[in-house]
Amino acid sequence: MSKVAIVTGGSRGIGAAISRALKDAGFTVAANYAGNDEAAKAFTDETGIKTYKWSVADYDACAAGIKQVEDELGEIAVLVNNAGITRDAMFHKMSPQQWKEVIDTNLTGLFNMTHGVWGGMRDRKFGRIVNISSVNGQKGQAGQANYSAAKAGDIGFTRALAQEGARAGITVNAIAPGYIGTEMVRAIDEKVLNERIIPQIPVGRLGEPEEIARCVVFLASDDAGFISGSTISANGAQFFS
Ligand code: NDP
Repeated sequence: MSKVAIVTGGSRGIGAAISRALKDAGFTVAANYAGNDEAAKAFTDETGIKTYKWSVADYDACAAGIKQVEDELGEIAVLVNNAGITRDAMFHKMSPQQWKEVIDTNLTGLFNMTHGVWGGMRDRKFGRIVNISSVNGQKGQAGQANYSAAKAGDIGFTRALAQEGARAGITVNAIAPGYIGTEMVRAIDEKVLNERIIPQIPVGRLGEPEEIARCVVFLASDDAGFISGSTISANGAQFFS
């Protein structure tokens, strides 16, 4: 029987590519999303992958959503914490709301989702958790104090949990993408993108969602059992100290 994988934010952007790649690799995939019903329906129509609507920022909704997925598809072997948002502003203009929304989704969302699958993975002595962080969590980004803090937190969470899961057969890893050509990045002003961001990427282009998805498939595979607590940087050779 194929293993079940949940991908949060799995119906659009990088998450959609991850859902597709996991399905192609033989997993039964549940793609979670927050509110864009139209995109979710189009995604299911195109791929046959079931979509499930709840907010990763809501602990009780995560517990209920995970239960529904397990009832319908089976026990969860793989969790990809991919859902994320931006609410960019220079710090002196950043509102408490902008801070909270990003932390609630991009950091607390990992707690909420992982808490829901952790017990079952421990009982079954197998689990694969992949957290989608960001290069901006590694290096910090002006205008993104909220996002950088959450994404750096995702890496700390990954490292701590990798140690807790080690004896229970659960691996926990992160991927830190650079700029990937999804709606999140295309929302950036085109002039800023072309004149300031792309010239800073040594390979000279945005990444493709599929390039992140292939990393996830590897980390979710049985072959990656000795890799845990790692962060894979997939950013076109952007270096930082
Ligand atoms: P998109 O904006 O294209 O898609 C985001 C997805 O997350 C959507 O499916 C959205 O659902 C879902 N989502 C947002 N909030 C919630 C929530 N509270 N609960 C459940 N689902 C939610 O983003 P990307 O594909 O660009 O980004 C995916 C991940 O990769 C994010 O964590 C992002 O921070 C990270 N990342 C992206 C980079 C990039 O360059 N694009 C670079 C580095 C990291 P809905 O469709 O309903 O809105």
